[in-house]
Amino acid sequence: MNDCLFCKIIQGTIPSSKVFEDERYFAFNDISPQAPTHILVVAKTHVDKIASMTDEDCAMVGGLFRTAAKICAEKKIDDYRLVINNGAGVGQSVFHIHLHILAGRPMGWPPG
Ligand code: 5GP
Ligand code: ZN
Repeated sequence: MNDCLFCKIIQGTIPSSKVFEDERYFAFNDISPQAPTHILVVAKTHVDKIASMTDEDCAMVGGLFRTAAKICAEKKIDDYRLVINNGAGVGQSVFHIHLHILAGRPMGWPPG
């Protein structure tokens, strides 16, 4: 956990472009945006990936989605894609659960 990039961003020891913060969640602009809006939402508690979730983490993960919806409502963004990568094989590069908010351009389906 001490070595976690997103824990350091939450603590402010690594700077970020903050979008939202409350007691439990923190959101910031992705350093390498893949869409005009690309925001990362993280919980302030460290869990490395979805596969590591316990039943006790359900509220925390649900709150990521609720926080994303609040951020998008505030920004008047109606259409957005929410993504969580689980595992390096599908692109997870930071092992602290984070929800990507992607918006502002057309997006293909299936992804990847
Ligand atoms: P993942 O690939 O793990 O699903 O997503 C990690 C995301 O974190 C990537 O989109 C990457 O661009 C972003 N990222 C990596 N390092 C930093 C950083 O230092 N600051 C910010 N704001 N984003 C980062
Ligand atoms: Zn962390």
